[in-house]
Amino acid sequence: MKKTQKYLSFTALAISAIFLFILWRLGYPALIPIQDTTPISESRYKSPSAKIRFTIIKTGEAITSEAFIVEGGNPFGKGKISHSAILVEHSNERFLFDTGLGTHVEEEFAEHPLFLRIVMKFKNTNPAIHQLKQQNISPESIKTGFLSHLHWDHASGIKDFPHMEFVTTKKEHDSAFKESGYIKRQFDGDSVHWKFINFDSIPYENFTTSKDWFGDGSVILVPMAGHSAGSLGMFLNFSNGKRYFFTGDTTWSEKGFKIPAHRPRGSRSLVDIDPDSLGKELTKVNRLLETYPNLKLIPAHDLDVQENLGIFPNWVE
Ligand SMILES: [Zn+2]
Repeated sequence: MKKTQKYLSFTALAISAIFLFILWRLGYPALIPIQDTTPISESRYKSPSAKIRFTIIKTGEAITSEAFIVEGGNPFGKGKISHSAILVEHSNERFLFDTGLGTHVEEEFAEHPLFLRIVMKFKNTNPAIHQLKQQNISPESIKTGFLSHLHWDHASGIKDFPHMEFVTTKKEHDSAFKESGYIKRQFDGDSVHWKFINFDSIPYENFTTSKDWFGDGSVILVPMAGHSAGSLGMFLNFSNGKRYFFTGDTTWSEKGFKIPAHRPRGSRSLVDIDPDSLGKELTKVNRLLETYPNLKLIPAHDLDVQENLGIFPNWVE
């Protein structure tokens, strides 16, 4: 073989190898989520009667390819990411679900290695605390903050609300202080007030344990496995029959539940601690959707879903 021919064959081989590697990282062949078979149970909680509404405070956003968000996603389709804090009003009480990007997010983000700063780059930062003040909502009027989990883009606003009590699972709290993948300065020190949630052995839908936070059937918290050590999800049940399910980072896109599909291999290996358990949660929520087509799923980062519902200062009621 001539030298040029040899060179050309080598180049073709190298290009094919790179192409196959990229396809593999994007999720071909896909990891099929493990089927969850937990039965859907009758609710043992009261029918919700509390006056309740919520609003989505978008604290930052990013645009990427859909192929980086969900396995099998269109590489030429837009993947719109939001970083949000959810403000809920329940009767006369206000609480947050996640805090989004806070006032010190730039310094916090700088702690990530360079490649993560490139893939997780965000724009249009506008911390929840600023937006609340602009709309004359006193941050002190919000007493509690639930955390779907403690990853940087959910925990960044914690120290913007020093008066608040933050609710998470003990497992998530301990793992956030021990493991890599968390930015400790977002939640360390004595200024953060923690409350740990203990789920009751009361099944809710197809979750085997749950917590009816106000005891009135309106705000139900459930554990969600696979993404982090102790993530939680939240159902909001309105008295008018509307239902919303905030699913944290179990998937970044509603499509992840509808297909159901994992995050692409590349993202999965970075952010999910247990893909098998996570797959079961995906199929669990997929089955819920089949049973309740009107249940609105709100993944923490799905900007399309959130914009369709309306962004702060608009309320969903
Ligand atoms: Zn996360």
